[in-house]
Amino acid sequence: MAILLGAIGDDFTGSTDLALMLGKHGMPAVQYLGVPAGQPAPAGAQAAVVALKSRTAPVQQAVAQSLAACGWLLAQGARQIFFKYCSTFDSTAQGNIGPVAAALLERLGAGQTIFCPAFPANGRTVYQGHLFVGSALLSESGMRHHPLTPMTDPNLVRFLGRQLPAHSRAGLLPHALVRQGHQALAAALAELEGQGTRYVVVDALTDQDLMEIGRACAGLRLITGGSGVAMGLPENFRRAGLLPAGGGLEPLPALPGGAAVLAGSCSEATRGQVAAMAQAWPSLRLDPLALAAGGQGAEQAAAWAGEHLARGPALIYSSAGPEEVGRAQEGLGRARAGELVEAAFARIARALREAGVAKFIVAGGETSGAVLEALGVRALRIGPEIDPGVPWTFSLGEPTLCLALKSGNFGGRDFFAKALGMLP
Ligand code: ADP
Repeated sequence: MAILLGAIGDDFTGSTDLALMLGKHGMPAVQYLGVPAGQPAPAGAQAAVVALKSRTAPVQQAVAQSLAACGWLLAQGARQIFFKYCSTFDSTAQGNIGPVAAALLERLGAGQTIFCPAFPANGRTVYQGHLFVGSALLSESGMRHHPLTPMTDPNLVRFLGRQLPAHSRAGLLPHALVRQGHQALAAALAELEGQGTRYVVVDALTDQDLMEIGRACAGLRLITGGSGVAMGLPENFRRAGLLPAGGGLEPLPALPGGAAVLAGSCSEATRGQVAAMAQAWPSLRLDPLALAAGGQGAEQAAAWAGEHLARGPALIYSSAGPEEVGRAQEGLGRARAGELVEAAFARIARALREAGVAKFIVAGGETSGAVLEALGVRALRIGPEIDPGVPWTFSLGEPTLCLALKSGNFGGRDFFAKALGMLP
């Protein structure tokens, strides 16, 4: 069955956020981990999101992966392509947002695309081409210290301009125009295209702005942005009589077996969530130094969880504060400490699945990737939302698993209990 909208996400948890946004607005989406080779989209999916790990990959690699994803999405019937990146425009002076967007535009033979990372519900707004995080300019937010993509220029027109092909410039649709609504916006985009402006940053301060922008972009072959601007797209397809009413997020299947929580994120939010869960349920801490020394083993940890899971949920976590993480990194090196922990979670997840566990809650983007790979999950359907931006999902194919995968900083303090409480 043909899909309507095809999306390419530059990271894993951001892609889930987009699939959730589409589902919430009545467009069922399936999320793929990497480009599915030779596999058709399943019946009932109106959108497909291909999640890549291309945000900080070398530019050529990011472009090649994105083009491969685009080719597969077009083969599934996609009428419009959405390139999803972070609402803080995470990228470097070289890319990858500009180069990927330019390559997709060429591939689609399209004349113009927009750039709109705004996500007002999470405090990300764009005004006069400047990106704000809450009340601070992007360059004065915590993003200026990001280890991989430090964002020190809040002016998206200028910053994107540096990433674009030679002789290309970015234009701006300012908020004064956006607030005039979709007709004025569409006319302004056409006028800019007539002047040769192919790349247009669009201001947005509210969800209403995003809905109008979405409507104005109904005819664009390529749209780029955060998940926010995707909220207006399902309605375009409904208006055209292509998308049936009533679809969206799917109910979770009721599965036998216990539920395990695996937390490998060391972010502040996750540490709070771990502390809250450890008060009520059995918990086991993984220590990278002990893992390295052989004092702790993944199989032991899985056996410990197996015993407890018959009676209720259990938590295995490596989450630790900066001092402890620093000690582990000093002793083992940053990369090896992370790899040891990820490998341990991968083995634990596999052992638990073999023991019949079918429900996993995982905290941490990298940790989620390691666990999904170990479980052999290649595609996800999107279930109900747990906390903003984080849905329950379930895997396509055998065996069916329910998976809640959250990036470290997402979710309230009671996230794990809330997620567990939603299982049928
Ligand atoms: P987040 O979404 O918060 O960034 P990730 O799972 O993406 O979480 O990244 C956390 C990284 O930290 C992973 O590579 C993980 O293996 C590593 N890690 C987890 N616990 C520890 C620890 N106690 N010491 C050192 N590194 C750790």
